[in-house]
Amino acid sequence: MNNIAIYPGSFDPITNGHLDIIVRASKIFDKVIVAVLENPEKKNPLFTIEERVELIKRVTKDIDNVEVESFKGLLVNYAKEKSAKVIIKGLRAVSDFEYELQMAMMNNKLNNQLETLFMMTNNKYSFLSSSLVKQVAMYGGCIKDLVPEEIIDDIRNKFK
Ligand code: ADP
Repeated sequence: MNNIAIYPGSFDPITNGHLDIIVRASKIFDKVIVAVLENPEKKNPLFTIEERVELIKRVTKDIDNVEVESFKGLLVNYAKEKSAKVIIKGLRAVSDFEYELQMAMMNNKLNNQLETLFMMTNNKYSFLSSSLVKQVAMYGGCIKDLVPEEIIDDIRNKFK
């Protein structure tokens, strides 16, 4: 059986917290599709969709069963198109839970064949979010250990 999981998000940009989830999920599923959401509601992104996909591809290039794509519209439709039965979400604090529960319920209502599985954050990264990384970088703080080494310069260059 080909077990395909989708890991959706904004990834603006990918952090070590996201990468940790991707690596762990890649050991459980035959294929993990990291899906960058094209969300017109999120104003002023730092990276374009194409740039985000490229950054994620760069940091996951050595993991054979990981693919990176972007998608628009309903996640349930995208999952069906990809023959995926599982959505992976990372959970950091209780504050993530309420929103994620609501999303998981709605997605299950739209397609009850689709399961949402939650993975707990690695406690090293429980405080980490893309928006916090952007704030630290904007004011010239050190983002080493927060994002993969290979993308540090890309983030710094955005604030030059
Ligand atoms: P954010 O902008 O908050 O970093 P994203 O939309 O890019 O969020 O996140 C995509 C997914 O990754 C979500 O399921 C989110 O809960 C999860 N995630 C984000 N940061 C972490 C982290 N540090 N540890 C574990 N999961 C995370």
